[in-house]
Amino acid sequence: MLMHGMISVKGAEAPFYLPQGDECEVFELAHANELPLLLKGPTGCGKTRFVAHMASRLGRPLHTVACHDDLAAADLIGRYLLKGGETVWVDGPLTRAVREGAICYLDEVVEARRDVTVVLHPLTDDRRILPIDRTGEELEAAPGFMLVASYNPGYQNILKTLKPSTRQRFVSLEFNFPRPEHEVPVVARESGLPEDRVRPLVRLANKLRALKGQDLEEGVSTRLVVYAATLIQRGMPVERAIRAAMIEPLTDDADVKRGLLDLVTAVFG
Ligand code: ADP
Repeated sequence: MLMHGMISVKGAEAPFYLPQGDECEVFELAHANELPLLLKGPTGCGKTRFVAHMASRLGRPLHTVACHDDLAAADLIGRYLLKGGETVWVDGPLTRAVREGAICYLDEVVEARRDVTVVLHPLTDDRRILPIDRTGEELEAAPGFMLVASYNPGYQNILKTLKPSTRQRFVSLEFNFPRPEHEVPVVARESGLPEDRVRPLVRLANKLRALKGQDLEEGVSTRLVVYAATLIQRGMPVERAIRAAMIEPLTDDADVKRGLLDLVTAVFG
């Protein structure tokens, strides 16, 4: 299944994004100079929100594709479909973005099948073309088109990493979980929970992140902290919300869970 969203919001207020550094300037310069961009970082740290924010700021439509291990080149490019007895060509999200000068965001691009990276190569060098074998077309990307891809280098899966020949085609930005002075206002704004009640949640999140690589494969994401804060803001007792949003999603191991709950007690007393 193809998850595909589009936002076209020229003039509308950009989705809220609190910059961590100079990433907005890098994105703007990459876009102005027709350079593709790669966002590296763990899940739930703000990459998708950043792209939505920048697309809106630049007044470009955005086509987002959540990549998965069954995603093939044809899902991005398009295919012939039967419609009312006739065979018609239907553009995929990448082709649409190339034609209309939109931003195409391939989330977790390493998950996609190998043939996808082959398609990206002629688009990410200065030719900026998309050959469509099935129709014989060779599309030149319209002005404004930009390819943005993300991946999570933390999975340590040797089979699921980007080949140097692919990654060296992108300007790259490293993302990480926001520093507390950024994460507290972000979570407060997203959840509506006051900052002084968000602060201990963020402190706990950073303690849990410190366990990455020992007991946990991935640290708790900003997304999960937002979930916990949202549940608390809607009236759920703090400890219940933390269990549901910040502990259970991290592990299925009963011993590890008990250890994590000890950390909760240490932070909340
Ligand atoms: P990713 O694409 O890295 O998996 P998302 O962009 O979906 O993560 O981020 C998850 C959530 O975290 C967002 O929906 C948003 O609520 C919040 N978030 C994280 N960082 C920021 C930020 N810098 N500014 C605003 N919201 C943020």
